[in-house]
Amino acid sequence: MMKYSIKRAAVIGSGVMGSSIAAHLANVGIETIMFDIVPQELTASEREKGLTLEDRDVRNRISLQGKQSLLKQKPSPITTKDRLDLIEVGNLTDDLSKVSEVDWIIEVVVENVEVKKDILAQVEKHWKKGTIISSNTSGISIHAMVENCSDEFRKYFLGTHFFNPPRYLKLLEVIPTKDTDPEVLAYMKTFGEDILGKGVVEAKDTPNFIANRIGTYGLLVTVREMLNGGYSVGEVDSITGTLIGRPKSATFRTLDVVGLDTFIHVAKNVYDHVEGKEKEIFDVPSFMLKMIENGWLGQKSGRGFYVKEKGKAGSVIYQLNPDTLTYEDQTKLNTAATEMAKQAKGLSNKMKALVYAEGDRAGDFIWSITKPVLIYVAELVGEIADDIISIDQAMCWGFGWEKGPFEIWDAIGLKESVERMVAEGENVPEWIRTMIEDGHTSFYQIKNNQQYFYYDQTYKKQPANEKEIDLQRLKNIDGVVKKNAGASLIDLGDGVACLEFHSRGNSLGLDSIQMINYAIDEVNKNYEGLVIGNQGKHFCVGANLALMLMEAQDDNFFELDIVVRQFQNMAMNIKYSEKPVVVAPFNMTLGGGAEVSLPAAAIQASSETYIGLVEFGVGLIPGGGGTKELYLKKLRNLPKGIKFDLTKVANDVFEKVAMAEVSTSAAEALENGYLDQNDGISIHPDHLLYDAKQKVLSLVKSGYQAPKREKIPVVGDAGYGAMLLGAKSLQYGGYASEHDVKMAEKLAYVLSGGRMKEGTLIDEQVMLDIEREAFLSLIGEPLTQQRMQHMLVKGKPLRN
Ligand code: NAD
Repeated sequence: MMKYSIKRAAVIGSGVMGSSIAAHLANVGIETIMFDIVPQELTASEREKGLTLEDRDVRNRISLQGKQSLLKQKPSPITTKDRLDLIEVGNLTDDLSKVSEVDWIIEVVVENVEVKKDILAQVEKHWKKGTIISSNTSGISIHAMVENCSDEFRKYFLGTHFFNPPRYLKLLEVIPTKDTDPEVLAYMKTFGEDILGKGVVEAKDTPNFIANRIGTYGLLVTVREMLNGGYSVGEVDSITGTLIGRPKSATFRTLDVVGLDTFIHVAKNVYDHVEGKEKEIFDVPSFMLKMIENGWLGQKSGRGFYVKEKGKAGSVIYQLNPDTLTYEDQTKLNTAATEMAKQAKGLSNKMKALVYAEGDRAGDFIWSITKPVLIYVAELVGEIADDIISIDQAMCWGFGWEKGPFEIWDAIGLKESVERMVAEGENVPEWIRTMIEDGHTSFYQIKNNQQYFYYDQTYKKQPANEKEIDLQRLKNIDGVVKKNAGASLIDLGDGVACLEFHSRGNSLGLDSIQMINYAIDEVNKNYEGLVIGNQGKHFCVGANLALMLMEAQDDNFFELDIVVRQFQNMAMNIKYSEKPVVVAPFNMTLGGGAEVSLPAAAIQASSETYIGLVEFGVGLIPGGGGTKELYLKKLRNLPKGIKFDLTKVANDVFEKVAMAEVSTSAAEALENGYLDQNDGISIHPDHLLYDAKQKVLSLVKSGYQAPKREKIPVVGDAGYGAMLLGAKSLQYGGYASEHDVKMAEKLAYVLSGGRMKEGTLIDEQVMLDIEREAFLSLIGEPLTQQRMQHMLVKGKPLRN
């Protein structure tokens, strides 16, 4: 049993990070009090209202503004608006004694060691033994902050470094000092992972810890090589983004988002604490200091490495010329090596195509920025982290790299690349040379389906976490029961099977439908239950539009009718499966993805699930029974024994579908009726399949029985009229086109059960038949086909 349990927290500082950390705590249900300083002066509006510096609203103004800012940010730091109720605000002068009522205090004030020391000394006066306390510093020495605090206080103190934005970025660096109680450290690692849903990496108490140390080094090396080789800002960005497994914003667009001042502050922290060659790199080039002088900090000041200017033909983005400090047309780098890399499959092959393309302008650049970073990380193992895995995970989770530096090194070939480094006169760390001399040619190895990593002159098994089911690993160890091009059925063990989609975007085609039907048959015969889940980028982006458009353009309505019928039957199979089916959606779960989820015995959703019936966006209505299931789910969740207005429920579903509304989180999906109290939400994305499997097992244990076939009460003619009225008024207001109204008519017709008498009970199949007919009539419309085409080509909806 753990000694600790965090139910209430105090966040000190309500700026960018303080407020968004408080928001993330609220997202997971932790009550938080957020403090900031008392303002020194009144604002004009406070003066107008006759307030004084003694008024509570004035004294709490800064933390209150921090809280209010949460509603304005995009993407939202909070999962639903009412999460804000969990955040109380206060100020450091009047309220600090409240830290004695919480289980965890996190300091998130300005990055200044003196300010942090002072705050922590004040906190200690009210601190009660047993309360964990941490700092969110980006890189200041953790032990230095508490050097004047008591021994007892220091046992409970450590670094907890979130990355911005904390809701979305996976990395949480946890940094113990030599005084931190090992139990406190162990608890915070478990808490970070299981309750906050983060990827926790233990870092050592060195300047900037792991990710920021390597990340800033890598960026400054990139700037140095850009200047040395006469590359442009745009050229560098065109080859340092997705092409090499980094975020789309590449190098300089990332810097513009972070803010040059913040970046330089972080770089200076290392500069002040290191010596020699390393110090030279962290000495920021003078053109960047000039940018700071000019106030060109990036997005927040309107210009940085890029500026957007409005011209006659719309907005144009210009790049900075670092030599002249003027803005010029953007340029990109296209060479034989970039072409090869674009064609190559997978990051390993792309990297190889680039780093070994000697004499190629892009290839030379990528080698010149990869080589020093690899040597640097090798030098830092042991100093900043115990092992190579921690470094790789920190870079992937904190900076969005697809592969960490040691994985990249394996990908380009350790022996080959080191030979080239040595030939180029580089000083490769001794442990790497010894490793190669001992005949080891990679940092990672897979043996008997277990991953091993190089550690202390041998290979160490990567510790397994039972909550992290790895489908690829299960497939490798013969877990595939059946497979086709769109989906696979995999044995998860303990009598549970998993249906995995693996088509492009995990879109649903006939092959995935067939595999779901097969899975349900197989599970009903030989398993206890089924999980429908996968580990792609998105759960499912919808039905395969290209396929349907092709059939529609060829007037193959007979075939289309069969496809839609099969889709509908598959959804009914999920619903009426004798054994429980749990669907595990995450990220985009659109259209058909939502229609697979809604009929399940239960949904276990990732906290980051963006679910919605979005068919209107492509000129269609849902064709797999999604409208019916959303309507029924809402009806099922109405309080029992109370008379309700059926029209309101139908209208609500109508609006959600007609507006193609997508939830921005699982918590919001719960508010919108896509989820209900029987469903579960997983905060850690990597635990989703495990949680879904547990859900299956708990349904089995409680004696799961398939639902009885339902009759649906429909709103009939009057409800149909009410729904249409809404659509018409949108049309008069200029918000809906004639085609939108036509689609709305079809949707209203389906929801009202074909304009029957209000309250008539119809069979589910009747509603499905009406839906299919309406779907087929819409897909034959040229305007719908234009919408579908537009989505396929441009990736966004067309209004016509
Ligand atoms: P910020 O400037 O947005 O907020 C700092 C807060 O500290 C403000 O609300 C301010 O009122 C308060 N403050 C200022 N002086 C103070 C004092 N003397 N006593 C008490 N409070 C005072 O900064 P931020 O970006 O939220 O950074 C906060 C901490 O988080 C820093 O240590 C920073 O290094 C770290 N951090 C920032 C990021 C990021 O991307 N911004 C990421 C990770 C960690």
